Amino acid sequence: MKIERIETHVCNARMRNWIFVKVITNESGLFGWGEGTLEWHTRSVVGAVEDLSDLLIGEDPSRIEHLWQMMHRQHFWHGDGLVRSTAISAIDIALWDIAGKVHSVPCHKLWGGEVRDTIRTYCHLGGGNMEKFYETPVDNAKQFADLAQAAVADGFTAFKCMAVPPTMTLEGQKPVRAAEACVAAMRSSVGPEIDIMVDCHARPSPAMGLQFGKALEPYGLYFLEEPCWPESVDGLTMINAAITTPIATGERITRLADFRDLFASRACEVCQLDITHVGGFSEARRVASLAEAYRISLAPHNPQGPVSTAASLEFGFSQPSYIICETVHSDVPWRDDVVSEGFSVEKKGRLVRPNQKPGLGIEINEDEIKKHPFLPELPQRVFYKDGSVGDW
Ligand SMILES: [Mg+2]
Repeated sequence: MKIERIETHVCNARMRNWIFVKVITNESGLFGWGEGTLEWHTRSVVGAVEDLSDLLIGEDPSRIEHLWQMMHRQHFWHGDGLVRSTAISAIDIALWDIAGKVHSVPCHKLWGGEVRDTIRTYCHLGGGNMEKFYETPVDNAKQFADLAQAAVADGFTAFKCMAVPPTMTLEGQKPVRAAEACVAAMRSSVGPEIDIMVDCHARPSPAMGLQFGKALEPYGLYFLEEPCWPESVDGLTMINAAITTPIATGERITRLADFRDLFASRACEVCQLDITHVGGFSEARRVASLAEAYRISLAPHNPQGPVSTAASLEFGFSQPSYIICETVHSDVPWRDDVVSEGFSVEKKGRLVRPNQKPGLGIEINEDEIKKHPFLPELPQRVFYKDGSVGDW
């Protein structure tokens, strides 16, 4: 068995271009799907996949770790920059999809079989609709409460919102009180049993992140995500130590050693590694082993396309410390036309039962992808009131 060809299929899904990667073997009908969606870097990732293909054409796709090492270490530059690492991820996921198909088992069976019966999922407020999630103004607490109720009515027992506005390194109490009002409104509208997550998008400085964390602590968040820049390990550590709310981070980290430093500093309680950026399943499993040593939970970042979701679920059925799967379902109305999935979702509670089909268990409709060709992603830019640059 040899790798014959590697294709990229780009599908514009409004906010993101889903980048699907198809690794095709010389055996009839045997191929695998991966995903390496990286907003505002689509053409770069497509190019990186093309560059990596030179290393892989003619190689045996079953030697996944060997090929991962080649992709990561050969050509001199290690493959842990964001673009290269995303391209490696997409190919690695596709190689594991092939491995599952070769052995006629779902991917999670290759890693020891399922460790749980179901996986809980959470949604974004608005179900992945870009405007509702990213552009609901933080001074409109009622809208947050209404969207929270809609998520619960949709069957979810957990949801995430962006109730923390962009702030300069220091600002007064106004944004903190606005965030608190939003979370208070959501908590009173959904009651105590629903889990609420707030993603700060690494907008605050450590000092502001601490203020937001303290203000939101009484509302019992499931986790508080990226309360400051991910590279500010000391800031994350300070906040995680100061509040009972678990801190989540990791979606932008691609280096195994950086995860080690994060965990060793106790900078988070929830690791949000992104399987489509960190280096695919091969590297995600190494990160998970590191996290296990610190009893840190896994909740992979997954606002991307349907291959990424299938990958997160396969990973979750094999990982004891995986707690919840991030999902979007209303980003585009034709999402289900592009993919057919091997797993099933119970509407009440939004619990997923494991895929029984080989590999990722998905089929991708390439004709549907062709209906949504590449478009540049919509710019998302933040400037503070004084005109200086902020974080989106
Ligand atoms: Mg996030």
